[in-house]
Parts: sequence; structure tokens; C-alpha cells
Amino acid sequence: MSKPTIATGHFTGCFGCHMSLLDIDERILQLTELVEFDKSPINDKKRFDRVVDIGIIEGGCSNDENVEFLRMFRKNCKTLVAIGACALTGGVPAMRNTVPLRECLEEAFLRGPSVIDGVIPNDPDIPIMLDRVYPAHEVVKIDYFIPGCPPSADALWAAIVALLEGREPVLDYELLKYD
Ligand code: SF4
Repeated sequence: MSKPTIATGHFTGCFGCHMSLLDIDERILQLTELVEFDKSPINDKKRFDRVVDIGIIEGGCSNDENVEFLRMFRKNCKTLVAIGACALTGGVPAMRNTVPLRECLEEAFLRGPSVIDGVIPNDPDIPIMLDRVYPAHEVVKIDYFIPGCPPSADALWAAIVALLEGREPVLDYELLKYD
């Protein structure tokens, strides 16, 4: 019988949520027995081969490329789980949401204390910044949310096991954290 499939994706965040996933330590061996990984930075697989059972995404959307990839995840994942503050609320990157984008770019690339002869990047290959950082659920439907910055490895493990067993990923109080 074929194994359930998992994909993971990273958008605007710090990769800390993926690091937390790796923090399940030796359970990663168990996980590789239980599931087959499709697209994920963990195996460096760039494309989906199929529609997967579980998608896990970290980070919000700060540019047009994030939006495109998040929509691709939604299309290719039967169940989509958002993990971490950046995916759930925009997190630290969303601190820029109170400042107009133009001012952010000017501060970063023209007026910043370490800038010499600055220029705002405008290469057509660079993703276009959005007016603000959007949490994942404002872009696509998210089935489950796991808070934390990052969520603990135990919380992620409990959620994955629950989903693989066909249960709702309801986490015990001690596994929930919001910082
Ligand atoms: S929620 Fe925290 S750990 Fe996760 S990507 Fe955002 S800043 Fe990093």
C-alpha cells in the first residue's frame, strides 16, 4: 500500500518553523517510514509530482511569488496546515504593514545607515513586493493552524500524527504556545 504524502513550503519567514520540524529528532526516521515527502526544502525537491495528502506551510506572503506558490500549494494539497506566527498573522515581517511600502524600500535601500549610493532594486526577475505582508489564510483556504514562533517540535509531531491517523489535530494545552 502506498504511503501518505507530505509537502512542506516556505514563504516569508525565517525558516525557524522548518527547523522546529527537524527538531523532532529521531522521530524523523519514524516519519520517513510513515510518509513519503514530495515538494519540500527538507529534501530539496522543487516541484510537486502529485496532489499530496498533507501540506505544511511556513511564512506569510510579502510578494507576488509567495502568492503564486501558496496558491500552487493549495491546489496540490488535500489538507493544508499553516504553522507559525508568520503564516498565521504575518509575524515579524508584518511589522512593515504600518509603514507605506515606498517608505520601507527607501529606508532599506536609500536612507539606511549602511547604505552607500543606494538604489531600490528593480530587476524584472525580482519578485514584486506587495503593499503589506498577508497571512496565509488571507490568500488561500487553510484547514488547520498551529501557532507559535516557532511551534514546538512536539506540537508539530502531534499534529502530523493526528492527521496521518485521520484525527483532527487538536493539541493539548501544554503544546500550545503563541510566542
Ligand atoms: S513563526 Fe517564527 S520561527 Fe516561524 S518562520 Fe516566523 S519568525 Fe521564523
